[in-house]
Amino acid sequence: MSENFDVIVIGSGPAGYVAAIRAAQLGMSVACIEKWRSKDGRGINGGTCLNVGCIPSKALLDSSHRFHDTKKELAVHGISTSEVSIDIGAMMARKEKIVSQLTGGIGQLFKANGVTGLYGTGKLLANKQVEFTSHVGAISVLNGGHVILASGSLPIEIPMAPVDGSLIVDSTGALEIETVPRRLGVIGAGVIGLELGSVWARLGSEVVLLEALDEFLSIMDKGIARETLKIFTKQGLDIRLGARVVGTQINDGEVHVNYRTTEGSEHTEVFDKLIVCVGRRAYTTGLFADDSGIQLDERGTIPVNEQCETGVPGVYAVGDLVRGPMLAHKGSEEGVMVAERIAGHSAQLNYAIVPNVIYTHPEVASVGETEEQVKASGVPYNVGTFPFAASGRALAANDTDGMVKIIADANSDRVLGCHIVGPSAADLVQQVAIAMEFGSSSEDLGMTVFGHPTLSETVHEAALAVNGNAIHKANRKRG
Ligand code: FAD
Ligand code: AMP
Repeated sequence: MSENFDVIVIGSGPAGYVAAIRAAQLGMSVACIEKWRSKDGRGINGGTCLNVGCIPSKALLDSSHRFHDTKKELAVHGISTSEVSIDIGAMMARKEKIVSQLTGGIGQLFKANGVTGLYGTGKLLANKQVEFTSHVGAISVLNGGHVILASGSLPIEIPMAPVDGSLIVDSTGALEIETVPRRLGVIGAGVIGLELGSVWARLGSEVVLLEALDEFLSIMDKGIARETLKIFTKQGLDIRLGARVVGTQINDGEVHVNYRTTEGSEHTEVFDKLIVCVGRRAYTTGLFADDSGIQLDERGTIPVNEQCETGVPGVYAVGDLVRGPMLAHKGSEEGVMVAERIAGHSAQLNYAIVPNVIYTHPEVASVGETEEQVKASGVPYNVGTFPFAASGRALAANDTDGMVKIIADANSDRVLGCHIVGPSAADLVQQVAIAMEFGSSSEDLGMTVFGHPTLSETVHEAALAVNGNAIHKANRKRG
């Protein structure tokens, strides 16, 4: 087969499939190549996000949250239950059903938009040609007017804890554990480690998270990170900071994990399962030929400018493959931007306003700058906070842990950032993201009418608190 397409996309994760659909909507002929195969060997779209990332992890977080809530939180409402149990097989089957519904949905969207889905491996050659090797080994060369690389990322492996798929698993294996481990170790207390650790802790595991850094959630706003650590510790997660894993051994069906503290003392913990969640790296194996013009930077990512151009004219790279946070929505928006620019539009992506969420309970969410970043920039600023404990709706729901924090420029009052730990933080922070996108001041947010009683009122009150005008808490006196 030798075929011409206006756009060839390599990878159908949230960056690639969205780019492909948008390009087709804009009237271009598009092929999207995907190498992922289902357990029964079928080509399958959706990448990490749909198959082993955002969606299955949220399915398990939701199931485990309901189980935990039913067991621990109903009595306060006067509801009693008989013995509550969990069928892990049924929980996993539900997760798989959601995954196949969504991955199948992409195939339907491709059909509806006229995207040619090709199942196999893509490799960028010189002159915007792409070698396509189908799953049955047939090789062909496609000619692309433009090529979008969207091959995503893989879990980082560390030699001191080699994944064996049984006792030591990565984030993918952690979504398929068949019985609740009695003692579960997690290396890395980052976003994924906290989410997956929470799933199994809620189902009954004693969970220990070993984190090399001394600081918890070091890139987050420090006030919110401190509050989050307090909440998670109260929930029973054993989070050990300054604990660098230096080795593991398997003995009698258990994993012995050696770690060294920042002070230099050596310790060993024994687990019946260990999850390695030490980050992800760009996936570029076999993605481009030596003469394609693409070269990796020192971090193994493909260097691109703000418009996701690679330096090879007509070749773009988007998603986890390139700089920036490894987030599905960041990749999708890059995909849209690139498709629109190829179509001649002047699309941009506002990288300063990309929300970031940890889907634990309570959720942790942020957008914009942290207080530390604003302080370092030298811009004078005001901070407003509001605790969920003072929210009527949070009290009614018996869900009062956490707070909202809004930071605004002291001169212009423009909102610079919002950081939340608390119930529905992901959805609340999005309200502030929209406000920031429209250049809102904290006064604008304060003048907006919020429904009562809602969790959103905490955002309203935090915005009012920026200038000392909160109603439902005592405002700090300003000097
Ligand atoms: P991917 O989703 O990795 O997709 C890349 C695709 O390219 C893959 O399907 C791959 O098979 C294919 N491919 C690679 N090379 C080739 C080739 N040569 N030829 C053909 N195909 C190829 N992000 C969030 O925003 N929210 C969350 O809640 C969230 N939760 C997560 C939970 C977990 C457990 C994990 C692991 C990740 C989570 N993420 C989350 C991150 C999110 O999944 C990624 O940021 C996102 O999937 C990146 O999208 P992408 O399209 O760049 O790459
Ligand atoms: P994230 O990048 O959010 O996925 O988080 C990964 C976390 O793993 C980071 O906070 C790292 O500090 C942590 N980490 C990496 N290597 C080790 C190790 N050997 N022992 C403990 N923690 C680690």
